[in-house]
Amino acid sequence: MSKNFDVIVIGAGPGGYIAAIRAAQLGFQVACIDEWQTAAGGPAPGGTCTNVGCIPSKALLQSSEYFDQAGHHFAEHGIQLQGLGVDVAQMLARKDQVVKQNNDGILYLFKKNKVSFLHGRGRFAAKADGGYEIKFTGKTEESITGKQIVIATGSSARALPGVPFDEVHVLSNDGALRIGAVPKKLALIGSGVIGLEMGSVWRRLGAEVTILEGLPTFLGAVDEQIAKEAKKAFDKQGLKIELGVQVGEIKSSQKGVSVAYRNAKGEALTLDADKLIVSIGRVPNTTGLNAQVVGLQLDERGAIVVDADCKTNLPGVWAVGDVVRGPMLAHKAEEEGVAVAERIAGQHGHVNFNTIPWVIYTSPEIAWVGRTEQQLKADGVAYKAGTFPFLANGRARALGDTTGMVKMLADAVTDEVLGVHIVGPLASELIAEAVMAMEFKASSEDIARICHAHPSLSEATKEAALAVDKRALNF
Ligand SMILES: Cc1cc2nc3c(=O)[nH]c(=O)nc-3n(C[C@H](O)[C@H](O)[C@H](O)COP(=O)(O)OP(=O)(O)OC[C@H]3O[C@@H](n4cnc5c(N)ncnc54)[C@H](O)[C@@H]3O)c2cc1C
Repeated sequence: MSKNFDVIVIGAGPGGYIAAIRAAQLGFQVACIDEWQTAAGGPAPGGTCTNVGCIPSKALLQSSEYFDQAGHHFAEHGIQLQGLGVDVAQMLARKDQVVKQNNDGILYLFKKNKVSFLHGRGRFAAKADGGYEIKFTGKTEESITGKQIVIATGSSARALPGVPFDEVHVLSNDGALRIGAVPKKLALIGSGVIGLEMGSVWRRLGAEVTILEGLPTFLGAVDEQIAKEAKKAFDKQGLKIELGVQVGEIKSSQKGVSVAYRNAKGEALTLDADKLIVSIGRVPNTTGLNAQVVGLQLDERGAIVVDADCKTNLPGVWAVGDVVRGPMLAHKAEEEGVAVAERIAGQHGHVNFNTIPWVIYTSPEIAWVGRTEQQLKADGVAYKAGTFPFLANGRARALGDTTGMVKMLADAVTDEVLGVHIVGPLASELIAEAVMAMEFKASSEDIARICHAHPSLSEATKEAALAVDKRALNF
């Protein structure tokens, strides 16, 4: 193996592995270093996303959704079931298999694109002639040099002060995806994306789930109307969400966990549970990088400081994904990875932060792109709004899933689409049309004039566009 590379990528999560592949496509000699390992000690590229994030959570969401459907909705379709049960071990084994397929897929892609993959930890050793020396510690320890370095070391779960994750009673996202039996009572702290998704999995499987949230409003970043609709659905499902709480002492014992807290009214209460999942945000992974040896600038959170192009304060050193500012989303990391590789090649890589979609894979799903109604009001933008409920959509009725709506916001003068907000079935897929429309600066009339297949959920997007002009046809 060569010891001198054009590009060295540290981290093989969605930001890093995609940057490495794109750089290799552009003709560079690339090495990608990643330390994640399987239980057996083998390489497991894909980062948080593949190993303990996007992929395993969606695998468990799917399995638990099937169980929920079988238990509560199959009868409506005339399907009778007896002896329905959950084999958690099999569910987790399937999830692990899905993860492994993704790990193996990335190893294959590295081979196909001639990216040298190094399994172990990478850290800065020194500035070198025309680049940087990176120390790699895996089964062996060696030094390699790179003219350009891309840091994509991601993030880790934030623990509550004084309450470390033991992954037995107090769980991070990692432990939350490995609970071996359905807990009777599950407590969560944090009702963000991860909290809601993890809470949904275990609620569907039969746990009594309570989520404690410090903020007074539910899903504050989401359009209020959409958040309200989602909350109504979660309440109906029995997902208990307490807002405006102040968490106090947390005690673990053989029996489980007890969380002392004050509710929004100021009453002192205790929540006893078998397990506690803490999902209160994530911290950038920069501690092991030896950043100080080369003078790499970090901010007060430990994130790498970058400009709009993902350039750090050091020439030839870039950083992408969760380890830098911006939303902690896999597709944002990927877009930055591609853009950086292209900038290294002298091209004009580009990431449009205004059209990054957000998705929460609960049931109903929540997805949005662009500005919310509250943001438009705060920005003083005159807008028109159109909504269309899935209740009036033929495909949603046939699916038996009519919760929610599509909401479209367009500029009152130009009609340009400024935001699309969806709560309902397959919102994660429907949002792609809205992202595309906004990328092409479409007007709501453009979407209203496009032929959408019938019957399809996407007709709700067209109808919401028609509703902007107060001429929905089916509602
Ligand atoms: C439960 C959960 C569900 C999620 N679901 C979604 C979702 O549905 N959609 C979505 O868009 N996002 C989701 N996310 C967020 C998403 O996982 C992250 O935004 C994404 O993984 C960030 O990618 P990254 O490449 O920046 O970092 P990471 O994926 O964190 O990868 C960083 C990699 O770098 C490695 N590394 C760190 N330091 C070193 C070092 N010094 N040497 C070598 N290797 C190192 C790490 O081991 C890791 O493999 C979810 C996150 C969680 C926790």
